[in-house]
Amino acid sequence: MVAAFAVLGSVFAIGSQTGWISVRAEGSTHDVVEEQQATDPEEQNLNTTLLPAFQPETRDFSGVQRSIDIHTEIPDRPRMDVITYSVSVGDTIFGIADRFGLKPETVLWGNYDVLQDDPHSLRPGQELNILPVDGTYYVWSEGDRLEVVAAFFGVDPQEIIDWPGNELSPDIDFDNPEIAAGTALVVPDGRREFVSWQAPRITRSNPAVARIAGPGACGSIYDGPVGEGFFVWPTTATFLSGNNYSSFHPGIDIAGSMGNAIFASASGVVVYAGWNDYGYGYMAVIDHGDGWQTLYAHMSQVNVSCGQGVFQGSVIGGVGSSGNSTGAHLHFEMQSDVYGKVNPYDFVSP
Ligand SMILES: [Zn+2]
Repeated sequence: MVAAFAVLGSVFAIGSQTGWISVRAEGSTHDVVEEQQATDPEEQNLNTTLLPAFQPETRDFSGVQRSIDIHTEIPDRPRMDVITYSVSVGDTIFGIADRFGLKPETVLWGNYDVLQDDPHSLRPGQELNILPVDGTYYVWSEGDRLEVVAAFFGVDPQEIIDWPGNELSPDIDFDNPEIAAGTALVVPDGRREFVSWQAPRITRSNPAVARIAGPGACGSIYDGPVGEGFFVWPTTATFLSGNNYSSFHPGIDIAGSMGNAIFASASGVVVYAGWNDYGYGYMAVIDHGDGWQTLYAHMSQVNVSCGQGVFQGSVIGGVGSSGNSTGAHLHFEMQSDVYGKVNPYDFVSP
């Protein structure tokens, strides 16, 4: 499958067959992109800067712990080359990034062929590219143009040329750069949107929208309990065991042991219950009827069913490691029709 989207007058193709992000200038002689994948703007909206300012009533995070790996591998002299890191048991994207003094985004951007932008696809034994600086990593294709590649990643072409590790001539001809196809280039300060892997927004009036997400989708329109206007912590453990909230990880990974109880964070109606094909494993989504939904993923078991009314604090399933997961934890998301996907820590405390 090839997904395409147009930015700045050019067409960029993301081909899962090659496993690499590729940039195609419009009107180039390359293959025409097969189809325009419909993308829901709401799903694609990864930018939280437009959110209205939110002031939570309480911000007592004293109970929140997060294990920090203080072992860093930042060399004395600036590193120019891309190095390889072998993923160990217990690694997270955040942990690996910390270790090398990089942003977590850089770890994902440097390894689209392995991780497909999904922090949950991390597996022990994977070999990851660790870029020398924050930015993106691009594998050159025949016919690529420097300006187009640079524009796609939001940088000046000169920044790519000037990066010593790329070993490009300062006198390079922009129109005919003679970069061999397959050459991997570091794009310092490069950025791009993440390829969306998030679940669609599911409400009690449209539960069938999730049918593409897997067999746990629900089919009818439901009515039932409405949320309290506040949320309770959804499980027994109170600290993170993996990824924190970010633009590429729209939830928090809460620690837990296999089978620990998962609680409904507020009252509502179950609008997804069962397997999810996109890495969430066994998953439940509750629509709270007040514009809010909560999502619970990687469950060991789902104890509720489609259309069921649930009350705040009731057990809806068990903590597990199903789907793309490296160990038992609860992946918890909150979504609002006003704020979009939010950092749960802004709305609920352990
Ligand atoms: Zn997660």
